[in-house]
Amino acid sequence: MKCPKCGSENVNVQVVNEIQLKNQHHSIIWWLFIGCWWVPIKWIFLTLPAFIVKLFGHKKKKIKNITHSKAVCQSCGYTWNV
Ligand SMILES: [Zn+2]
Repeated sequence: MKCPKCGSENVNVQVVNEIQLKNQHHSIIWWLFIGCWWVPIKWIFLTLPAFIVKLFGHKKKKIKNITHSKAVCQSCGYTWNV
């Protein structure tokens, strides 16, 4: 393998663990204990703004680990995905 930056053959390939955020939906338990009363209250007091926030606002994120190979040039330190 050759380095795309400097052309050196001295390239080390390693497995990298990458953390990615994934959307998480509310559980059934959440809807039974909180959602059934919290959502109508939110609608009564915030109505449309709450709807807009729900549509375009930030959602709860779940951390997901993804492993993939990464090449590291030993000569110039350049890294890229394999
Ligand atoms: Zn290089």
